[in-house]
Amino acid sequence: MNFLVTGGAGFIGSAVIRFLASETKHKVLNLDKLTYAGNLETLAEIENSPRYQFIQGDICDRQLIEKLFAEHQPDVVMHLAAESHVDRSIDGPSDFIQTNIVGTAVMLECARDYYSSLTSERKSQFRFHHISTDEVFGSLGETGLFTEESNYDPSSPYSASKASSDHLVRAWHRTYGLPVLITNCSNNYGPYQFPEKLIPLMILNAIEEKSLPIYGDGQQIRDWLYVEDHARALYEVVQKGKIGETYNIGGNNEKTNLEVVETICDLLDELHPSKSTKIESYKELITSVTDRPGHDRRYAIDAGKVFHELNWKPEESFETGLRKTVSWFLGNPKWCKVTTNSGYQRERLGKGTK
Ligand code: NAD
Repeated sequence: MNFLVTGGAGFIGSAVIRFLASETKHKVLNLDKLTYAGNLETLAEIENSPRYQFIQGDICDRQLIEKLFAEHQPDVVMHLAAESHVDRSIDGPSDFIQTNIVGTAVMLECARDYYSSLTSERKSQFRFHHISTDEVFGSLGETGLFTEESNYDPSSPYSASKASSDHLVRAWHRTYGLPVLITNCSNNYGPYQFPEKLIPLMILNAIEEKSLPIYGDGQQIRDWLYVEDHARALYEVVQKGKIGETYNIGGNNEKTNLEVVETICDLLDELHPSKSTKIESYKELITSVTDRPGHDRRYAIDAGKVFHELNWKPEESFETGLRKTVSWFLGNPKWCKVTTNSGYQRERLGKGTK
């Protein structure tokens, strides 16, 4: 089959493309704008595959998207392109509105036109898979889990823009019959994650013995999923999921932010002990900073549907996945340097003040 993956030079999109290239026989077209978060070195290991092609472009560019549908004739669209960082959405929401909402609407409109031109046999194969986040559901109290029936209640410009895009995708299914699938996943971590996100930021700061800034009291809870487990789940959903349905994906790994950072410090103390005389453990670098405005307290996912209906479960525990991740960052300083060439120097973002 022909896959069109948007945002394939990003963190999760590249894991999906590496999976498709190495574990399947499908052809893959990667459409990515290459914003600060997109990086083709992330795909170096598969870039010479004869089944892989890259096009640099913007999902908001309707002419380009129409042309790609006409020329590439996709059977499956996996739509991951997005602005993805909550802190950046606090500093500048407009790129989030543009890419996440307008861009998704352009993708849906082009998919609808293209779908209407297909034969009934090809129509029955076609899927538009929208990849989204559990942040659309807002914050949980101390108990309970997000299910596919949870109400939408987003807190940040990022999660509100993703919630909007989820609504558009559902509307294009109900109104126009476009065969869609939606997945809402918890926090991902793993190799090639841009160092603005908690786990890579802490690993890279610690290695340089810079402070490890924890927002507020560090007691915010997230569920963590290793990115390659997510990529496999997305492939299961796109192959076997029921049209029009939503699937929640999670790792059943609830951790406070402070626990995550302390575990990273323990791993680094073991794998890369500090040579400086100033600290005995990387934990000494942990510093509390002002909390993020509108910071959700707790996310947790009930992934029972994808487990029972599609037979997917994560292969990595948080402990094994985090060990792999820390080792990967220690072993790939060149890739980490490329990300700083984008202009980002691991400074604090998203304080909410002008
Ligand atoms: P990322 O920021 O690492 O990558 C996003 C990619 O999209 C980049 O390669 C970027 O260049 C590209 N892109 C941005 N704007 C574009 C545009 N206008 N046109 C074309 N390409 C554009 O993000 P990620 O962490 O890989 O997330 C991918 C998707 O998964 C997003 O939709 C995100 O909302 C969702 N998601 C992420 C997480 C997570 O923990 N990272 C969890 C659940 C869902």
